[in-house]
Amino acid sequence: MKHLYSGKVRELYETGDGVLLLVATDRISAFDYVLETPIPDKGKILTQLSLWWFERLADIVPNHLVQAPIPAEFAGRAMACRRLSMVPVECVARGYLTGSALTDYRRSGEVCGISLPPGLSDGSRLPAPVFTPATKAPRGEHDMNIPAAVVADRSGPAVAAELARITLEVYRRGAELAAARGIIVADTKIELGFDASGTLLLADEVLTPDSSRFWPADQWMPGRSQPSFDKQYVRDWLTSPASGWNRRGPEPPPPLPPGVVERTRRTYIEAYERLTGLQWS
Ligand code: ATP
Ligand code: MG
Repeated sequence: MKHLYSGKVRELYETGDGVLLLVATDRISAFDYVLETPIPDKGKILTQLSLWWFERLADIVPNHLVQAPIPAEFAGRAMACRRLSMVPVECVARGYLTGSALTDYRRSGEVCGISLPPGLSDGSRLPAPVFTPATKAPRGEHDMNIPAAVVADRSGPAVAAELARITLEVYRRGAELAAARGIIVADTKIELGFDASGTLLLADEVLTPDSSRFWPADQWMPGRSQPSFDKQYVRDWLTSPASGWNRRGPEPPPPLPPGVVERTRRTYIEAYERLTGLQWS
């Protein structure tokens, strides 16, 4: 097995048969740092949740999964995949306004060149879901939102239109299934790539707490930041005086205390259990 790449969260290997193994570790990132403290089981939860979604999205878009044995050391946390030529665009769909889209909206009234109605606040529902692509930033830097027209210039209008269509359909399906479980999918990011025959396939992870904002629907209240099923405890702790960490300073974040680790682990498990209706074993 050949090691190809270390991402922030995943390790990529290629087997002798040309199969890509996408292995999700328990690493967690926050504020563009990979933290030194892992969250036990996180990689397995993200992998199992992605597999569950791939099946429920297969009529919208084919995916990178292939049938191949997974080495025992990676059991539960790896996907056997086709190695794709990845589209260099983070494909994001948003149904609600927050994060970088909120920042852009406050500055210009627009997100990725799409003008939005006035009077929206943090967490507002958008009139309709929008495709807000971003460029993949180098490690340690923020992704940057770009207009769909820029994607069309780079990848061609036909590919750009396909990216938008697939991203919005994946978002709508995810939002619909999650709504039935009391979860709002505020936004989600997918990654797509071309196989050897030139077909666009859904790759990477999909509709996980790392790639999406999941909000408990019964606590949704625009005008403030929403509680969410993700790294919120980690971010809140890191920015609290308790951590002693200066986000703007040169130092990396400190190790996480056990309580923050366990609450974060529980949050990932809760997202998995609520979305799938299955019990995390
Ligand atoms: P980066 O890779 O820029 O660090 P990241 O931190 O999100 O981004 P990880 O999620 O840790 O990365 O690693 C997954 C990597 O594998 C990503 O670069 C993703 O684009 C790539 N990838 C996912 N699926 C495939 C595939 N089928 N073929 C090739 N590359 C893939
Ligand atoms: Mg990733």
